[in-house]
Amino acid sequence: MRFASIGSGSDGNGTLIQGQDQATVLVDCGFSAREALARMGEQGVVAEDLAAILVTHEHGDHIKGVARLANLCRIPVYCTWGTWASKLNGVLDDALFRLITPHEGFSVAGLMVQPVPVPHDAREPCQFVLEQGGRRLGLLSDVGSVTPHMVESYQGCDALMLECNHDLAMLAEGPYPPSLKRRVSGPLGHLNNRQSADMLSQLERSGLQHLVVAHISQKNNHPDLALEALLGDALCPEHIIRLATQNSGFDWLTIEPETETV
Ligand SMILES: [Zn+2]
Ligand SMILES: [Zn+2]
Repeated sequence: MRFASIGSGSDGNGTLIQGQDQATVLVDCGFSAREALARMGEQGVVAEDLAAILVTHEHGDHIKGVARLANLCRIPVYCTWGTWASKLNGVLDDALFRLITPHEGFSVAGLMVQPVPVPHDAREPCQFVLEQGGRRLGLLSDVGSVTPHMVESYQGCDALMLECNHDLAMLAEGPYPPSLKRRVSGPLGHLNNRQSADMLSQLERSGLQHLVVAHISQKNNHPDLALEALLGDALCPEHIIRLATQNSGFDWLTIEPETETV
Protein backbone atom coordinates (compact mmCIF):
# COMPACT_ATOMS: atom_id res chain seq x y z
CA MET A 1 0.00 0.00 0.00
CA ARG A 2 1.20 3.53 -0.75
CA PHE A 3 -0.27 6.99 -0.37
CA ALA A 4 0.27 10.53 -1.60
CA SER A 5 -1.42 13.91 -1.33
CA ILE A 6 -2.47 16.36 -4.02
CA GLY A 7 -2.72 19.16 -1.45
CA SER A 8 -3.49 19.61 2.23
CA GLY A 9 -4.92 22.62 4.06
CA SER A 10 -7.92 24.90 4.22
CA ASP A 11 -7.71 25.71 0.48
CA GLY A 12 -8.17 22.10 -0.60
CA ASN A 13 -7.45 18.51 0.33
CA GLY A 14 -7.06 15.23 -1.51
CA THR A 15 -5.29 12.01 -0.53
CA LEU A 16 -4.50 9.15 -2.90
CA ILE A 17 -4.24 5.58 -1.63
CA GLN A 18 -3.09 2.76 -3.85
CA GLY A 19 -3.35 -0.88 -2.92
CA GLN A 20 -1.25 -3.73 -4.22
CA ASP A 21 -3.35 -4.17 -7.36
CA GLN A 22 -2.82 -0.52 -8.40
CA ALA A 23 -6.48 0.39 -7.87
CA THR A 24 -6.52 3.91 -6.49
CA VAL A 25 -8.86 5.54 -4.00
CA LEU A 26 -9.13 9.31 -3.57
CA VAL A 27 -10.11 10.57 -0.14
CA ASP A 28 -11.71 14.03 -0.47
CA CYS A 29 -11.49 16.37 -3.42
CA GLY A 30 -11.33 19.98 -2.27
CA PHE A 31 -10.18 21.23 -5.66
CA SER A 32 -12.13 21.76 -8.86
CA ALA A 33 -12.31 18.60 -10.95
CA ARG A 34 -9.94 20.10 -13.50
CA GLU A 35 -7.37 21.10 -10.90
CA ALA A 36 -7.66 17.76 -9.09
CA LEU A 37 -6.99 15.88 -12.34
CA ALA A 38 -3.94 18.07 -13.01
CA ARG A 39 -2.64 17.52 -9.48
CA MET A 40 -3.27 13.77 -9.69
CA GLY A 41 -1.41 13.75 -13.01
CA GLU A 42 1.65 15.04 -11.17
CA GLN A 43 1.47 11.89 -9.04
CA GLY A 44 1.07 9.68 -12.12
CA VAL A 45 -2.63 9.01 -11.59
CA VAL A 46 -5.30 9.40 -14.29
CA ALA A 47 -9.08 9.41 -13.77
CA GLU A 48 -9.40 5.82 -15.05
CA ASP A 49 -7.21 4.65 -12.15
CA LEU A 50 -9.74 5.87 -9.58
CA ALA A 51 -11.91 3.09 -8.17
CA ALA A 52 -13.68 5.30 -5.63
CA ILE A 53 -13.85 8.68 -3.97
CA LEU A 54 -14.31 8.68 -0.18
CA VAL A 55 -15.53 11.89 1.40
CA THR A 56 -14.89 12.79 5.05
CA HIS A 57 -17.35 15.73 5.29
CA GLU A 58 -19.01 18.50 3.34
CA HIS A 59 -16.68 21.46 3.94
CA GLY A 60 -15.57 23.01 0.67
CA ASP A 61 -11.90 22.19 1.17
CA HIS A 62 -12.91 18.50 1.08
CA ILE A 63 -15.91 18.26 -1.24
CA LYS A 64 -15.56 21.07 -3.80
CA GLY A 65 -14.81 18.95 -6.88
CA VAL A 66 -16.31 15.62 -5.74
CA ALA A 67 -19.62 15.61 -7.65
CA ARG A 68 -18.19 16.96 -10.89
CA LEU A 69 -15.20 14.62 -10.90
CA ALA A 70 -17.38 11.63 -10.03
CA ASN A 71 -20.09 12.41 -12.61
CA LEU A 72 -17.56 13.17 -15.33
CA CYS A 73 -15.43 10.06 -14.81
CA ARG A 74 -18.17 7.73 -13.44
CA ILE A 75 -16.51 7.14 -10.08
CA PRO A 76 -18.58 5.90 -7.10
CA VAL A 77 -18.61 8.19 -4.06
CA TYR A 78 -18.63 6.76 -0.52
CA CYS A 79 -19.89 9.03 2.25
CA THR A 80 -22.30 9.27 5.17
CA TRP A 81 -25.90 10.32 4.72
CA GLY A 82 -25.20 13.65 6.41
CA THR A 83 -22.38 14.47 4.02
CA TRP A 84 -24.47 13.47 1.00
CA ALA A 85 -27.54 15.40 2.20
CA SER A 86 -25.55 18.60 2.80
CA LYS A 87 -23.77 19.01 -0.49
CA LEU A 88 -24.14 16.07 -2.88
CA ASN A 89 -27.90 15.49 -2.95
CA GLY A 90 -29.20 16.60 -6.34
CA VAL A 91 -25.68 17.25 -7.62
CA LEU A 92 -24.03 13.84 -7.59
CA ASP A 93 -25.55 11.28 -9.97
CA ASP A 94 -27.64 9.04 -7.67
CA ALA A 95 -26.25 5.91 -9.32
CA LEU A 96 -22.77 6.82 -8.02
CA PHE A 97 -23.75 7.35 -4.36
CA ARG A 98 -22.58 4.66 -1.92
CA LEU A 99 -23.98 5.20 1.57
CA ILE A 100 -21.66 4.40 4.47
CA THR A 101 -22.35 4.22 8.19
CA PRO A 102 -19.73 5.85 10.43
CA HIS A 103 -19.27 2.75 12.60
CA GLU A 104 -19.32 0.13 9.86
CA GLY A 105 -16.26 -0.98 7.92
CA PHE A 106 -16.48 -1.62 4.19
CA SER A 107 -14.17 -2.75 1.45
CA VAL A 108 -13.33 -0.95 -1.76
CA ALA A 109 -10.68 -1.69 -4.37
CA GLY A 110 -9.13 -4.38 -2.19
CA LEU A 111 -8.79 -2.04 0.79
CA MET A 112 -10.63 -2.48 4.08
CA VAL A 113 -11.90 0.89 5.23
CA GLN A 114 -12.93 1.66 8.79
CA PRO A 115 -14.73 4.99 9.17
CA VAL A 116 -14.21 6.81 12.46
CA PRO A 117 -16.82 9.37 13.56
CA VAL A 118 -15.16 12.58 14.74
CA PRO A 119 -16.19 15.81 16.50
CA HIS A 120 -16.23 18.52 13.82
CA ASP A 121 -18.81 21.12 12.82
CA ALA A 122 -20.26 19.21 9.88
CA ARG A 123 -23.43 17.12 9.48
CA GLU A 124 -21.97 13.60 9.87
CA PRO A 125 -18.18 13.79 9.58
CA CYS A 126 -15.93 10.78 9.70
CA GLN A 127 -12.28 10.04 9.13
CA PHE A 128 -10.80 6.78 7.86
CA VAL A 129 -8.37 3.99 8.69
CA LEU A 130 -7.49 1.96 5.58
CA GLU A 131 -6.03 -1.51 5.77
CA GLN A 132 -4.51 -4.00 3.39
CA GLY A 133 -2.28 -7.02 3.98
CA GLY A 134 -2.13 -6.33 7.71
CA ARG A 135 -0.89 -2.76 7.13
CA ARG A 136 -2.88 0.19 8.47
CA LEU A 137 -2.97 3.78 7.24
CA GLY A 138 -4.79 6.31 9.43
CA LEU A 139 -6.10 9.61 8.08
CA LEU A 140 -7.07 12.17 10.70
CA SER A 141 -7.86 15.82 10.12
CA ASP A 142 -10.71 18.25 10.74
CA VAL A 143 -11.18 17.24 14.34
CA GLY A 144 -11.87 19.62 17.22
CA SER A 145 -11.14 17.29 20.11
CA VAL A 146 -9.77 13.84 20.73
CA THR A 147 -12.28 11.20 21.78
CA PRO A 148 -11.53 7.83 23.42
CA HIS A 149 -13.02 6.15 20.34
CA MET A 150 -10.52 7.97 18.10
CA VAL A 151 -7.61 6.90 20.30
CA GLU A 152 -8.85 3.31 20.14
CA SER A 153 -9.42 3.40 16.37
CA TYR A 154 -5.97 4.71 15.41
CA GLN A 155 -3.93 2.29 17.52
CA GLY A 156 -1.14 0.43 15.77
CA CYS A 157 -1.11 2.36 12.51
CA ASP A 158 1.84 1.76 10.18
CA ALA A 159 1.37 5.21 8.66
CA LEU A 160 -0.56 8.19 9.92
CA MET A 161 -1.62 11.51 8.41
CA LEU A 162 -2.32 13.73 11.40
CA GLU A 163 -3.75 17.23 11.46
CA CYS A 164 -1.67 19.93 13.14
CA ASN A 165 -3.91 22.83 12.22
CA HIS A 166 -2.86 25.71 14.40
CA ASP A 167 -0.63 26.96 17.12
CA LEU A 168 -2.83 28.38 19.89
CA ALA A 169 -0.73 31.52 20.40
CA MET A 170 -0.50 32.23 16.66
CA LEU A 171 -4.26 31.77 16.30
CA ALA A 172 -4.93 34.12 19.23
CA GLU A 173 -2.68 36.82 17.77
CA GLY A 174 -3.57 36.10 14.14
CA PRO A 175 -5.87 37.81 11.60
CA TYR A 176 -9.06 35.76 12.11
CA PRO A 177 -12.13 37.52 13.60
CA PRO A 178 -12.95 36.43 17.18
CA SER A 179 -15.87 34.20 16.12
CA LEU A 180 -13.68 32.26 13.68
CA LYS A 181 -10.92 31.96 16.28
CA ARG A 182 -13.46 30.42 18.66
CA ARG A 183 -14.71 28.04 15.94
CA VAL A 184 -11.24 26.86 14.94
CA SER A 185 -10.04 26.27 18.50
CA GLY A 186 -13.38 24.95 19.78
CA PRO A 187 -14.34 21.30 20.42
CA LEU A 188 -15.83 21.02 16.90
CA GLY A 189 -13.00 22.85 15.13
CA HIS A 190 -9.46 21.75 14.37
CA LEU A 191 -6.61 20.15 16.30
CA ASN A 192 -3.86 22.45 17.52
CA ASN A 193 -0.24 21.29 17.67
CA ARG A 194 -0.49 20.43 21.34
CA GLN A 195 -3.68 18.35 20.92
CA SER A 196 -2.08 16.46 18.03
CA ALA A 197 0.99 15.70 20.14
CA ASP A 198 -1.27 14.50 22.96
CA MET A 199 -3.21 12.28 20.55
CA LEU A 200 0.02 10.83 19.18
CA SER A 201 1.34 10.21 22.69
CA GLN A 202 -1.66 7.98 23.38
CA LEU A 203 -1.04 5.76 20.35
CA GLU A 204 1.06 2.64 20.14
CA ARG A 205 3.72 3.82 17.65
CA SER A 206 6.37 1.11 17.52
CA GLY A 207 5.42 0.08 13.98
CA LEU A 208 4.95 3.59 12.63
CA GLN A 209 6.79 3.97 9.30
CA HIS A 210 5.45 7.38 8.23
CA LEU A 211 3.95 10.30 10.09
CA VAL A 212 2.63 13.07 7.85
CA VAL A 213 1.72 16.42 9.40
CA ALA A 214 -1.41 17.59 7.58
CA HIS A 215 -3.95 20.43 7.27
CA ILE A 216 -1.43 22.99 8.57
CA SER A 217 -2.93 26.49 8.62
CA GLN A 218 -0.92 28.95 6.57
CA LYS A 219 -2.07 31.85 8.76
CA ASN A 220 -2.19 30.35 12.24
CA ASN A 221 0.68 27.89 12.29
CA HIS A 222 4.22 27.36 11.15
CA PRO A 223 5.56 23.95 10.12
CA ASP A 224 8.46 24.38 12.57
CA LEU A 225 6.04 24.78 15.48
CA ALA A 226 4.12 21.65 14.50
CA LEU A 227 7.35 19.66 14.16
CA GLU A 228 8.60 21.04 17.47
CA ALA A 229 5.44 19.87 19.24
CA LEU A 230 5.75 16.33 17.86
CA LEU A 231 9.52 15.99 18.04
CA GLY A 232 9.99 17.91 21.27
CA ASP A 233 8.21 15.22 23.20
CA ALA A 234 10.19 12.56 21.28
CA LEU A 235 6.92 11.07 20.11
CA CYS A 236 8.52 9.65 16.98
CA PRO A 237 11.89 9.63 15.23
CA GLU A 238 12.60 12.63 12.99
CA HIS A 239 13.29 10.60 9.85
CA ILE A 240 9.71 9.28 9.60
CA ILE A 241 8.07 12.74 9.67
CA ARG A 242 6.94 14.58 6.52
CA LEU A 243 4.92 17.73 5.95
CA ALA A 244 1.89 17.82 3.65
CA THR A 245 1.79 21.19 1.89
CA GLN A 246 -1.11 23.15 0.43
CA ASN A 247 0.58 23.58 -2.93
CA SER A 248 1.77 20.10 -3.69
CA GLY A 249 0.79 17.75 -0.85
CA PHE A 250 3.54 15.13 -0.74
CA ASP A 251 4.89 12.42 -3.03
CA TRP A 252 4.08 8.72 -2.72
CA LEU A 253 5.06 7.08 0.54
CA THR A 254 5.16 3.30 0.57
CA ILE A 255 4.08 1.31 3.59
CA GLU A 256 6.40 -1.66 3.61
CA PRO A 257 4.90 -5.08 4.17
CA GLU A 258 5.66 -6.94 7.36
CA THR A 259 9.26 -8.09 7.47
CA GLU A 260 9.91 -11.57 8.71
CA THR A 261 11.96 -11.61 11.87
CA VAL A 262 14.41 -14.46 12.05
ZN1 LIG B 1 -10.60 20.89 6.17
ZN1 LIG C 1 -13.77 20.69 7.94
